[in-house]
Amino acid sequence: MAGQEQRRRGVILVPFPYQGHINPMLQLGTILHSRGFSITIIHAKFNSPDPSNNPEFVFHSIPDNLSVNQKSSGDILGIILALNFNCQTPFQECLVQLIEQQDQHGEISCVVYDELMYFSESVASHLRIPTIILRTTTAATFVSRLTLQNLKAEGYLPLQDSMLLDPVPDLQHLRFKDLPISILGTPEIFFQLISHVSNVRKSSAVIWNTTECLEKSLLMQLKQHFQVPIFPIGPMHKFAPTSSSSLLEEDTSCITWLDKQTRNSVLYVSLGSLALMDISELTEMAWGLANSKQPFLWVIRPGIVNGSKWIEFLPRGFVESIAERGYIVKWVPQKEVLAHDAVGGFWSHCGWNSTIETISEGVPMICKPSFGDQRVNARYVSQVWKTGLHLENNLESHEVERTIRRLMVDEEGEEMRHRARELKEEVEQCVRNGGSSNNHLEDFVKLISSF
Ligand code: UDP
Repeated sequence: MAGQEQRRRGVILVPFPYQGHINPMLQLGTILHSRGFSITIIHAKFNSPDPSNNPEFVFHSIPDNLSVNQKSSGDILGIILALNFNCQTPFQECLVQLIEQQDQHGEISCVVYDELMYFSESVASHLRIPTIILRTTTAATFVSRLTLQNLKAEGYLPLQDSMLLDPVPDLQHLRFKDLPISILGTPEIFFQLISHVSNVRKSSAVIWNTTECLEKSLLMQLKQHFQVPIFPIGPMHKFAPTSSSSLLEEDTSCITWLDKQTRNSVLYVSLGSLALMDISELTEMAWGLANSKQPFLWVIRPGIVNGSKWIEFLPRGFVESIAERGYIVKWVPQKEVLAHDAVGGFWSHCGWNSTIETISEGVPMICKPSFGDQRVNARYVSQVWKTGLHLENNLESHEVERTIRRLMVDEEGEEMRHRARELKEEVEQCVRNGGSSNNHLEDFVKLISSF
């Protein structure tokens, strides 16, 4: 066995240290391991993945020099720039060591880095190791970022309020208000970042956790745009169903609770690993859920309301009022929840992982995006794939209640559930032998085997 491991060619993966980025990168690791590669993860100390979830991988932690204040600041743009500056030298030292050990552990085929960890490219290229970019968002988000750069060059930014509801020329499904402009940091920092992220530099290919059946025409457009091959091989979790990389402990008691509910009756509610809300939003959401009279499973992440330990800011009397009908937890095994028969809808912030996991299980959505690419995803769910409702206004309990009933009770929701099931089947086709994602994956494996 050890001999076999030694003969494997190695792939080095560099994830960006947040849940929505660690998951797809480790799924890719599981896929490539099953195709005969050894997997080494080089990761920042901050938000380290748990090696015991993947004993088949080798993990190397590198210092990131992020201060305690930076880590808790929520300033993700600042953290991205700091990681790209601080990790470069330790990454180079780690890579040099691994190169020196190639005789023992097998030759390194390539480095696959998250698009936000772009420092990896210059270090690896300097050491003559081929690099591949992993993009964990959609083709639509990528094209939206290019559009934002053009709008800036043409002097349209900052966007006038009067334009916000107008369609973006060349991006027919998006309005100006849906563009993924960052609410964090200064515009200069944001545009500096998207220019780094959009640039392929010397990388040999780009992997996307999306699929042709969701974004065919945009992916065709991007094939023309890039000088290197692109591989849309999503949804990657469907190729790696056992992959697990949760940073928080999953509360599996929710599955026992779901087992007791009737088919399609439960609204699952979660805003992912980063989105924050204020007390008034939490309150409106809580009463809307209670008044909808639908069963719900609600993930309230500790700290989702600034300064909260957990659910102490829920309105008085709320927990008692929902009794058997609602179940509140800190974190769930989300893919298992979405695959459960009892779940009939998902109120989501529309992070891309959550969105593609939901599409893969044929579940309709209530979209309440907070920032960045979530707005693009919400628009695609509601307007292009037509498998969800977009909650656009400020949270208000009556509207929350009405929207939940439209999705979970009304004919309109049933039609969306039907479309969601059809889309699920299309996505399943992409992953099967002969499907587009499967074919792209085969081509990708051939490419990295040829390095
Ligand atoms: N997730 C989970 N349990 C939860 C909530 C979320 O395992 O209770 C996972 C979810 O399956 C997804 C990831 O966390 O893979 C969140 O990524 P996403 O891109 O949806 O949003 P982000 O957290 O990056 O905003």
